[in-house]
Amino acid sequence: MAVQQRKTTTVHEIKTEKKVVAQVGKTWGRDRDVSFGTILVSLGILVFSPLWVLYTYISCNGYNCAMSAPALEVYNAPDHLVALKTLLIREMPRYSPYATRLFFSWLLFQAVLYAFLPAAIGYGQRTPAGHLLPYKVNGLLAWIISHALYAAGGLYFGWWKLSIIHDNWGGLLFAANLYGYFLTFFCFFKAYVFPSHPADRKFSGSFIYDLLMGIEFNPRFGKYFDFKLFHNGRPGIVAWTMINLSFAAAQYQKIGYVTNSMILLNVLHATYVLDFFYNEDWYLRTIDIAHDHFGFYLAWGDSVWLPWLYTLQSHYLLRNTVDLTPIQFAFIAAVGFTGYFIFRSVNHQKDIVRSTNGECKVWGKPAKVIRTSFVTSDGKTHKSLLLCSGYWGLSRHFNYVGDLLISLAMCMTCGVQHLLPYFYIIYMTILLLHRIQRDHTRCRGKYGKYWEEYERIVPYKLIPYIY
Ligand code: NDP
Repeated sequence: MAVQQRKTTTVHEIKTEKKVVAQVGKTWGRDRDVSFGTILVSLGILVFSPLWVLYTYISCNGYNCAMSAPALEVYNAPDHLVALKTLLIREMPRYSPYATRLFFSWLLFQAVLYAFLPAAIGYGQRTPAGHLLPYKVNGLLAWIISHALYAAGGLYFGWWKLSIIHDNWGGLLFAANLYGYFLTFFCFFKAYVFPSHPADRKFSGSFIYDLLMGIEFNPRFGKYFDFKLFHNGRPGIVAWTMINLSFAAAQYQKIGYVTNSMILLNVLHATYVLDFFYNEDWYLRTIDIAHDHFGFYLAWGDSVWLPWLYTLQSHYLLRNTVDLTPIQFAFIAAVGFTGYFIFRSVNHQKDIVRSTNGECKVWGKPAKVIRTSFVTSDGKTHKSLLLCSGYWGLSRHFNYVGDLLISLAMCMTCGVQHLLPYFYIIYMTILLLHRIQRDHTRCRGKYGKYWEEYERIVPYKLIPYIY
C-alpha cells in the first residue's frame, strides 16, 4: 500500500513537474539539452579519469613521481605491447584483504560519526522542485575525533603505524575504486527505483551523461543521511589531511626527519580542510551541494579522485626530498595565506549578505544588491538577492582567485623539478573555468533578466579587466 501510494505521488509529481518546467525555463535545475559533443566529453571523463589516477599512482610508486617515466619506458621498448603488459603486471595496485577491510572500516566509522554525533541542523538552497532540505552539520567534530583516534592509535596505543595509509596505498586504491563504482551504479539505479525526491531528478536522455553527472539531486537514506554531504566531506575531505600526515610519517621513517616543505604542505592543506569543516554550513549553499547531481562525478570522485589526486604533493615530497630555503618558505606561505584570506573573505561576504537579506555593510558601505525572484517547478515564486559590491562587484567569481592562489602555493612546496605535483593547480584552473561557464548557464536560467542586470553591473567573470 505504502509503495503504491509512493508510485502514485511520483507519477503525479513528474507530470506536474514537466508542465511547470516548461513554463519556468529549460536551463535551471533539471532539463538540459545534451549535445553529441557533451556525451563524447562525458565518455572521455568516465574512461580517462580512472586511467589518470592509475597512471599517477604508477608514476609515483614505481618512478618517484616522474610523470613521463612510465610512458617513456613503454615508448622506448622495442615491443610496446609487451613492455606495457610487463609494466602493468609489475606496478598495478592489487586487491589486499587487509587494505579492503581498512577502507570499509573507515567508511563505516565515518558513517557512524555522521549519523550519530551531535549536530547542528543547516539548510541548503531551495531545490528546483522547491524543497528546502535539512542537513546534519557535524563535520568538524568528526574530523577532530578521527584525527585524535588516528594519532592516539599510532603514537600511544600502538594499534597501527602512522604511515598505515601510505603502507597500504595500492590496496586502498583498489578498495576505493570498488566502492566508487558500486556507489555510482547504486545511485543510478536508486534514482529509477527508489528516488529520495522524485521531482528533483534530472534525466538528460543520455545514459552516459546521466551516469557521469547523476540523476538524483539529493539521494538520501532517511531524513538526514545525505549522500552528497557525507561522501564529499567524510571519506573524502577528512581523509585528505590524514593521508598527508601518513605520508609525512612515512617520510620521517625514510629520511629521519620531516622536511619543511612537507610541513608547509600539511599546514596549507589542513587550513583549507579545517576551514571547510568550520564553515560546513556555508558549504551547503555552494555549487557542489546546491546544484550538482550525484553521479560518477561525485560518487567516484569523492571516493577515489579527491583522496588520491588532491594529496599528490605529499606523495611527491616523500619520494623527492625538498628542503625549502627560508625565503622560499616565506614566499610560498605568503601566497597560500593571501589566497586563503581572499577565498574566505569573498565567500563570507556572500553568506553574510544573504543571511541578513542585504541589510549589512560590505567594505564599510551598505551592500549593493539586486533583489531577484525565481520560480521553482512547483510553480511557487521565491526571492533571493545577488550581491554586486565588495568582492562580488570586482568579478563574478573572485572567490576562485583565492582558491587558485592557495592551490598554486600547495604545488609550489614541491619545487620546480617535476610537473606532476602541479597537476592540482592545472586541474583546479580547468575545473573552476568550466564551473564559471556552468554556473553562468544555470544562473541565467534561474534568474533571467536579474542575472543579465548583474552581468551588466559586474562584467568580469574572474579577474577584473582581464577575464
Ligand atoms: P560559489 O560559492 O561562488 O557559488 C555560486 C553560486 O552563488 C551561484 O550559483 C549562485 O547560486 C550564487 N551567486 C552567484 N553570484 C552571486 C552574487 N553576486 N551574490 C550572491 N549569490 C551569488 O561557487 P562554488 O560553489 O563553485 O565555490 C565555493 C567555494 O568552493 C569557492 O571558493 C571555490 O573556489 C571552492 N571550490 C573548491 C573546490 C575544490 O575541489 N577544492 C571545487 C569547487 C569549488 P544561487 O543564487 O542559486 O544561490
